[in-house]
Amino acid sequence: MATTLTPILTKFWDHPQSWTLETYEANEGYQALTKALAMDQSALVSMAKDSGLRGRGGAGFPTGMKWSFLPPPDGGPRYLVVNADESEPGTCKDIPLMMAAPHFLIEGVAITSYAIGCNHAFIYLRGEVVHVYRRLLRAVEEAYAAGHLGKNIQGSGFDLDVTVHAGAGAYICGEETALLDSLEGRRGQPRSKPPFPAVAGLYARPTVVNNVESIASIPPILLHGADWFAAMGTESSKGFGIFSLSGHVANPGQFEAPLGITLRELLDMAGGMRGGKKLKFWTPGGSSTPLFTEEHLDIPLDFDSVAKAGSMLGTRALQIFDETTCVVRAVDRWTDFYKHESCGKCTPCREGTWWLKQIMGRLEHGQGDEEDLEKLLDICDNILGRSFCALGDGATSPVTSSIQYFREEFLEHLRQGGCPFDRDASALFA
Ligand code: NAD
Ligand code: SF4
Repeated sequence: MATTLTPILTKFWDHPQSWTLETYEANEGYQALTKALAMDQSALVSMAKDSGLRGRGGAGFPTGMKWSFLPPPDGGPRYLVVNADESEPGTCKDIPLMMAAPHFLIEGVAITSYAIGCNHAFIYLRGEVVHVYRRLLRAVEEAYAAGHLGKNIQGSGFDLDVTVHAGAGAYICGEETALLDSLEGRRGQPRSKPPFPAVAGLYARPTVVNNVESIASIPPILLHGADWFAAMGTESSKGFGIFSLSGHVANPGQFEAPLGITLRELLDMAGGMRGGKKLKFWTPGGSSTPLFTEEHLDIPLDFDSVAKAGSMLGTRALQIFDETTCVVRAVDRWTDFYKHESCGKCTPCREGTWWLKQIMGRLEHGQGDEEDLEKLLDICDNILGRSFCALGDGATSPVTSSIQYFREEFLEHLRQGGCPFDRDASALFA
């Protein structure tokens, strides 16, 4: 049976003024919070565990388990920090969610904070998206005014303040410990783990760091039950998620569906390839995940199936490229991004991404020689698993997978002394 969409977080995105408290409350908004405040905190953590929800920021770590890692209360503060620094190339789900329905996130923040015993939560937002910052601030103000945030929430005796913080526009600040450093006012660079933030996070206090979509999924789970959520998706990847389709597709956008749906099904829903062209390659979870090709169209998009097929589900950022695209050029562009965003803390990534960019650039221009391909693979081998954080590893994925699937195309650049593709044919790069 074909998988169908499950509009839950995206249900009323096309309603007029979908972002207001009024629209949210007309769609069961803040009813889950009322329910949560009448429950035992440990029951809420159990609910998150039972639902099988895995982190929607990319790594897929079980959300309820993360909450349960917090040490027992010691009288000091503990924090919830929402990672809203969505920056992975191709990833476009948290920002549309915060623009179209910010109260899902705010209600999720209130429920999660109550569950973990936090009285001050932070939403760390990517710095460039000033329009989202304004929308979140307005939604937080609305929630305060309605008694869903602040002192004595809904008369329950529970107090919660929420601070929306805009970063300064660095991809590395999406790495949770770099994010915490940035939030504390320092230059954002990853910290050593352990200790994990659950033990020593913001201001060295126990901290839960969760992605926007993970937290926004909490109100519907609470309202409809852990079993309802767990009945969707696959055995190891429960529930629904927002898939963002971009690139050479007829109707790009966000598609909310059970995990385990395939790209073939999603492409059908998105009207197929743009201009009836042939699919050449795609990313299952953003540019940090190894490329897939047409042969992977029927891989179920869940954590395990994608990993088994040699890539990662990551952020479900499905970037679609048709036959007019030069893979060398696309990878060169991504490599430039990683070189630029490397924070410089560790040598394999700082030096390695620079060298990857040098070599990719010359190959795209038909310079260099066949040995450069082996050099690229050797550099990737020296970055992968030897870098301090996931950015370095991610930078190698497009390079190694493009050589794996399209070696001949690299060689064609060398034979022709330049890019064999018509750059104007692909509007993505226009
Ligand atoms: P990770 O697997 O190291 O950690 C995942 C989460 O689990 C973290 O919150 C971590 O603190 C927690 N955790 C893991 N083991 C733990 C333990 N033993 N005790 C307590 N907590 C524990 O992954 P990561 O480095 O945080 O994230 C990498 C992922 O980020 C990549 O897979 C990529 O898909 C994703 N990513 C997302 C974006 C975006 O824009 N959303 C950007 C870049 C990368
Ligand atoms: Fe910084 Fe890159 Fe090292 Fe991560 S892998 S710490 S981004 S230099």
